[in-house]
Amino acid sequence: MKVAIRRVGNWFLWGLGAVVVLFGLYLSIFFFPYPLFPHHAECAGFSVYSDREISEDFRVVLEDARFRVEEMELYRGAKDLRIFVCQSQRLFVFFIKLAGKRHVGQALVISVAGNAFFSETVIESVGQRNGGRPVHSRLEGSWSAAIAHEAAHDLVFSEVGYGKARRIPVWKSEGYSDYSANLASAGADPDYDFRSRIGLLLDDDSWQSTMGFIDRRHFRWHVLVEFLCSVKGLTFADLMDEGVTEEIARSQMMAWYSAPLIDDDGNLTVGLKSPGRGDGKSEIRNSKSEIQIFQ
Ligand SMILES: [Zn+2]
Repeated sequence: MKVAIRRVGNWFLWGLGAVVVLFGLYLSIFFFPYPLFPHHAECAGFSVYSDREISEDFRVVLEDARFRVEEMELYRGAKDLRIFVCQSQRLFVFFIKLAGKRHVGQALVISVAGNAFFSETVIESVGQRNGGRPVHSRLEGSWSAAIAHEAAHDLVFSEVGYGKARRIPVWKSEGYSDYSANLASAGADPDYDFRSRIGLLLDDDSWQSTMGFIDRRHFRWHVLVEFLCSVKGLTFADLMDEGVTEEIARSQMMAWYSAPLIDDDGNLTVGLKSPGRGDGKSEIRNSKSEIQIFQ
């Protein structure tokens, strides 16, 4: 009897050991994927790994991504994500499947490992399908916007912790990452006009062509968060308030959009040529009473 118990105990320990080893191997693919990415470059403060040669042009992308990341509200000089470029779509799909994701998007960020995996195929096909529009959005198929978008997700994870970050409603999470990723580039564009972005969002014809945009939803989230942060002056912490819902944000934005630009005294009341933080709205941003209009 004792021998039988000991034997069962041994089998159990072997089984447990095997599970631990397999789980360790599983994690190590996300933490140490380096053997699958033999090409390496350090540029603009980013560590980049690729399954094929890294072109010189990619340095310009990284400089642009750096410019975007440093403009983010949550950026405090912390260590950046390591960038893993999958030029092979098969390799990218391997990571997506392994992570248990069903949707094959532009990228996959494993925040706890500090690694982000990008699909060259998806990013470039999004750009081709949308004809590079709208600019300063995730729909234009920009590598630097894609990198900055994942960096923004990572900064949110660091700010609030993994558990809380998972509970952020998707419109805020995706909208905030898109807004943050494109804040610097839109701010540097003299032709940028936030009102016309709302106009584009509302224009059904722009979204119905077979060669049109593929994801109006993401653009809506981006525009809503941009309205809340750049026009209303909300900080990230304000935005995370549960009282700030998508429905209320939408009705506030539509009221702002349809309001006359000139008041009775001939002054410009609303209107925003370019987005930006620190634009003199801190008294609004930090005021609880202002946030309550969303509740
Ligand atoms: Zn995202």
